[in-house]
Amino acid sequence: TTLDDWERSDKYHNSFLLSPDPALEAAAKRNDEHGLPEIAVSRAQGKFLNLLAQSIGAKRILEVGTLGGYSSIWLAKALPHDGTLVTLEISEKHAQVAKENIAAAGLADKVSVILGPAIDSLRTLHPTPEPFDLVFIDADKQSNTAYFVEAKRLVRKGGIIIVDNVVRYARVADPRYTDEMSEGVRDLLRALKDDKDVEATTIGTAGEKGYDGFLYALRK
Ligand code: SAM
Repeated sequence: TTLDDWERSDKYHNSFLLSPDPALEAAAKRNDEHGLPEIAVSRAQGKFLNLLAQSIGAKRILEVGTLGGYSSIWLAKALPHDGTLVTLEISEKHAQVAKENIAAAGLADKVSVILGPAIDSLRTLHPTPEPFDLVFIDADKQSNTAYFVEAKRLVRKGGIIIVDNVVRYARVADPRYTDEMSEGVRDLLRALKDDKDVEATTIGTAGEKGYDGFLYALRK
């Protein structure tokens, strides 16, 4: 199977399970117009994150890596009226586009975009009085382990931490790839091997974004 097959399969499933969403379509279009890289989650992955947030009744969500806010919108749409999403982004341009997309989606009152290196922003956040229910990590992969440590500190017991892009066409498992992104994922996997604070699994995905996967971790 090839990317063509995965794309066709994603489209087929989406045709039954996803209805048109003007806010998300507008966000994807604005990202494109501003020349943002095409590295947002896919529609199906966005909906998965949305359903996960709804399933655990998430009221507080934390995202590391905003880009143009496409996944932020999917997640924020799952929040109750008094829910909040905090999303961290290093690029001023990305953060600006994200703010426009989030405002256009009518979610500006629920979402705060924090500009700066995510590790610095994370260290200013507190798990009290209200910890986060869900953390989505999708930024510079070499910092995955540092972000994961902060995510564990900030998420409640029974909360979920998702890390994107942990499979990368199975390259993460192939020692011939020594790029810092693959190394970043391997470093996280090694850290998780003896981590008693979470139970985790990898969910492989194949679709319009190729063959990749989410790490799904439950905070104990
Ligand atoms: N979650 C987004 C979505 O699905 O729509 C995609 C995020 S994109 C894969 C990764 C983002 O992380 C980029 O916008 C990049 O600028 C940002 N980033 C990279 N290094 C960062 C850092 N050290 N701190 C915060 N954000 C960072």
